[in-house]
Amino acid sequence: MLELLFLLLPVAVAYGWYMGRRSVRIDEDRKTSQRSRSYAAGINFLLSEQPDKAVDLFIDLLQVDTDTIDTHLALGNLFRQRGEVDRAIRIHQNLVARCLDSTEQQNLSMLELARDFVAAGLLDRAESVLIKLLDDDELADDARKMLLQIYEQLNEWQKAIDIAEKLSSKNHHRIVAHYYCQLAEIDFSLADFKIIASRLKRALKADPQCVRAQMLLSQLYIKHQQYELAIKHIDQIPDLSPAFASEAWKLLLQCKPHMDENSFTSILIRWLEKTQNTTVALALAETIQARQGIRDAEAFILRHIKRNPTMKGFHRLMTYQLEAMHDDKATESIALLRSLVEKQMAIKPIYRCAHCGFSSKVIFWHCPSCKQWGSISPIQGLDGD
Ligand SMILES: [Zn+2]
Repeated sequence: MLELLFLLLPVAVAYGWYMGRRSVRIDEDRKTSQRSRSYAAGINFLLSEQPDKAVDLFIDLLQVDTDTIDTHLALGNLFRQRGEVDRAIRIHQNLVARCLDSTEQQNLSMLELARDFVAAGLLDRAESVLIKLLDDDELADDARKMLLQIYEQLNEWQKAIDIAEKLSSKNHHRIVAHYYCQLAEIDFSLADFKIIASRLKRALKADPQCVRAQMLLSQLYIKHQQYELAIKHIDQIPDLSPAFASEAWKLLLQCKPHMDENSFTSILIRWLEKTQNTTVALALAETIQARQGIRDAEAFILRHIKRNPTMKGFHRLMTYQLEAMHDDKATESIALLRSLVEKQMAIKPIYRCAHCGFSSKVIFWHCPSCKQWGSISPIQGLDGD
């Protein structure tokens, strides 16, 4: 009898295990069904324009269900994209509070919460959330990029430098150089020569190709009447970026009274050979006109516009031709054409962003449209130099 009982024991265990599993499965099925109904109700609230009720329901669901965090993150982002930032903040704040047993999920929720705060203009709250994410290897770079956007808005350039220097992207040195230039520009009328010069030298150390730092350093030396040093830095600008030869010329013009005529002309000749820049060609034409007369200047400009046709060059050629004309009718026609070209030149922008195409009459080192640093330069070609 006892042996029979021993034989039946495995059967009893197997039956008990089966019944237990069945009961758990029934319980799980009931929960899943309940959850599906609640999600459906939440979506109904969303569709019937009752988003607050939907948010309450989804937050309640989160209390019992941490497996669907991705869905809640996506839902919060959806609210933010619709401009309903307060609801996005509620969802993401709840996620941060619920995900205590998963640092990865909690940090992801914090990153989204920081995005909500930025969208709501609560920059100080976004900053404090993002600083906590700097130790997370996966999210640190995202946090740094968002912190940079915040510091740029707040003009906190030293904080921006400290963060940008740790970025892993290739071009972060270029951005650091612009941040040093921002600091130097603020100091230009306030601080002494040494502080500004050291900021600009740091900019050039971060990015030796930084045209802006070379231009600011040249301006600083001009301001302090150190013309030889100014010319040394101005002379490097067309090498760094041929499109900036026209900007270099404006700076060189300020040094001209302190230079001998030959060295001024030889710098312009060198720049023209390198860049074929029309502003430089027009400056050289003036020198030729003063030394050799208007006909040589006209021949020089004609040769230049054959190589690099621009409206500026054409305008100067017409000016020279008008000087030599005696026929009243032809003079009238050329004068009319020249005034049309002049009007066209007056309405055209001077600078353009290589990244987004934004154009303007003044230079911006930080594109107002695409927010890139150093992407705007003087326009080249027919409408430009
Ligand atoms: Zn742009």
